[in-house]
Amino acid sequence: MSLHALIEAMPKIELHVHLEGAVRPETLLRLARKHGVSLPADTFEGISRWYTFIDFPHFVEIYFKISECIQTAEDIELVAREFLAGQAAQNIIYTEATYTAYTHYQQKGISFEAQLAAIKRARDWAQTNLGVSMNLIIDIDRGVAAETGAITAQWVAGAYGDGVVAFGMGGYEVGNPPEKHRTALERVQNAGIPCVLHAGETEGASSIWGALRAGKSVRIGHGVRCLEDPALVEELRRRQIPLEVCPTSNIRLGVAPTLAEHPLPQLIAQGLYVTLNSDDPPMFNTTLTQEFQQCADAFGWSADTLETLTLNAARAALLPENEKRPLEARLHEQFNLLRRQYLKT
Ligand SMILES: [Zn+2]
Repeated sequence: MSLHALIEAMPKIELHVHLEGAVRPETLLRLARKHGVSLPADTFEGISRWYTFIDFPHFVEIYFKISECIQTAEDIELVAREFLAGQAAQNIIYTEATYTAYTHYQQKGISFEAQLAAIKRARDWAQTNLGVSMNLIIDIDRGVAAETGAITAQWVAGAYGDGVVAFGMGGYEVGNPPEKHRTALERVQNAGIPCVLHAGETEGASSIWGALRAGKSVRIGHGVRCLEDPALVEELRRRQIPLEVCPTSNIRLGVAPTLAEHPLPQLIAQGLYVTLNSDDPPMFNTTLTQEFQQCADAFGWSADTLETLTLNAARAALLPENEKRPLEARLHEQFNLLRRQYLKT
């Protein structure tokens, strides 16, 4: 068994992936036709070309166009089902998916309850038929007004524990520090709900400090630019705050020039808590399996590194201990079996 085959077969956990960013190009075209939304391309190849971003704001613009094609609760359920089928095909047994409910409420008037119910139907179907599970991080685009953020925080407070495990914050960091959403953050923090913020992607260390202080972020989405501040590296190492690293996303959005120059090996060498993720896989022409394969090739990872990163993700999952322990045991068991096959050949 080759290392690539081991990666394909190994059980995986994904903590940083966006439901809307995971819409397959074929599905996007189908939804656009169904609802008469005009896209800049009407073929698979055309959509792939359109996904070639100029910069982060351009990425956000495309992201919102995708959201526009998702118009009904049935569309949401379809997208979630296809997403979970894709996760199952990669043996991603547990996913924490990020979902921006406010966009669909604002654009199409779909109530939060109807959105959540649609996703839960897909989730139950996948659990029963595919044996994979998912929880949601309901996030806001940090560029929205504070009042909008507060509405999402209210939704999260009401749905926490019912398939919703955290409040998230993504989008363009520059000019949008977490302090802007203090009301929303305090609303969920006071209810004991975890926050998971994107930070250290489009802005440097100060944004990660903001995520830790004002955001009380229990993990950091990306966080790769922490290396710009040794005191921050020390803080993240001491507290073992998990970083959700998404290498291909960083390259496609210009955060790192190439995979060879990506800071991932330094993050690990600094003793930081690293997990590997795909972010918006079809938009970056990647999958979690490919992220592992490319990184294993580029950084010379062993089977041990693969298992460590997978267990890191399991331990950083926002699951109660009585669910986390069996998950870790299942991962250990499957890795032991795979390792024997891998070493044999
Ligand atoms: Zn993200």
